[in-house]
Amino acid sequence: MSLSQVAISIPASPTIALNEEARLLREKGEPVIHLGIGEPKNKTPITAILSSAAKLASGDVKYVPTDGTPSLKKAIVRYSEENYDRVVAPQNIIVSDGAKQSLFNILFTLCNPQDEVIVIAPYWVSYPEMIRMIGAIPVIVTPEDGSFIPRFDEIEQAVGSYTKAIIVNSPNNPSGMVYPEDLISKIVDMCEHKGIYMICDDIYHKLVFDGKVAVPACKYTQLDVENSKIILVNGVAKLYGMTGFRVGWVIAPKKLVAIMTNVQSQTTTCVSPVMQAAAEGALTGMQSIVESLRLSIQNNRDVLMQELHSFSDVHCVKPQGTFYALPDFKAYCRNSVAKNSVELCHFLLKKVLVVTVPGKEFGMEGHLRLSYAGTVKELTEGIERMKWALDPNAPSEIYIGDRKLVRDWL
Ligand code: PMP
Repeated sequence: MSLSQVAISIPASPTIALNEEARLLREKGEPVIHLGIGEPKNKTPITAILSSAAKLASGDVKYVPTDGTPSLKKAIVRYSEENYDRVVAPQNIIVSDGAKQSLFNILFTLCNPQDEVIVIAPYWVSYPEMIRMIGAIPVIVTPEDGSFIPRFDEIEQAVGSYTKAIIVNSPNNPSGMVYPEDLISKIVDMCEHKGIYMICDDIYHKLVFDGKVAVPACKYTQLDVENSKIILVNGVAKLYGMTGFRVGWVIAPKKLVAIMTNVQSQTTTCVSPVMQAAAEGALTGMQSIVESLRLSIQNNRDVLMQELHSFSDVHCVKPQGTFYALPDFKAYCRNSVAKNSVELCHFLLKKVLVVTVPGKEFGMEGHLRLSYAGTVKELTEGIERMKWALDPNAPSEIYIGDRKLVRDWL
């Protein structure tokens, strides 16, 4: 069978594959603890439920404009004014099936084959694959000092004559880092001088801790949306815990939005109006929901940091935002149990039913991405199980539910 070389070279999203593995295990009754999950556990905001239910009840669920319903766009215009101090027109906005489709549309619209897109490691798993899918080339910048924040000159050195764009994701999945303002302002400056697009994936922008603020890139430009190189991506998935609704959007110059709209019109037509009504309900409803989610996640971050201290050989940079941490498990990747993060992740799932994501998938081998979007109980029990599985000094027996496990591998 002859198939597309590009398509068959694209692996499944490892996070989605792990979600599926965990779901199947749970279906079999296995007490899985999911520290790999990329979504908060909160219930959908009531304003989102009511507004989508009303749309559904109207019985008028038909095709809507490809770039988004006028009323959701209006809510996004207001969101941009309130959160970014940025005046945007409805024609600067295109709504897509989640920020994932937004990102794909942007890359597809910007890049010719062989164009280069700079991606900063650690990076969200889908960036390099999306770039490859459209025939462009991901150029990965890995901070030389082993930290999660590159120096500006490391980014600058990666720029060449084929560089079309750079993706900046701060607060960052998977590290939880918020890039310093100085770095953001220098990237904005560089992009404007060199004519490179700066794709800001702001999907976690309000989930920041300890009074920190993720200052938006547009603060550092004098240019309006029409003339700026900054392309903003956002959505309702993370801030409102509405991952299943699949609504994201892009704010960009009108010409770019028009081309993305043509692309989307040939692929998905439009986002379901029921889901768009839900997003509108979230954006126009009580915003204290986001703050209470942020507070509970910050508390979970503190619990995770505390729990990780019990591992003498695990170093974890304290996350400043998102709901992920990327602790360094290299000390546990060089023995008979595991040789790398992928093996370690499979080992933990097999032996103690804890789902983690290998750092390798994010460009950081030797690390594991842990999500603290779940409950405190899951976090503490998950880390306790991991410690039992990996630490030869831990007692040799553990109970998982009413099942007694005996460690016979260390
Ligand atoms: N960007 C980042 C950094 C993400 O972590 C995710 C989801 N995991 C997305 C984009 C995609 O978001 P959505 O669910 O809206 O497609």
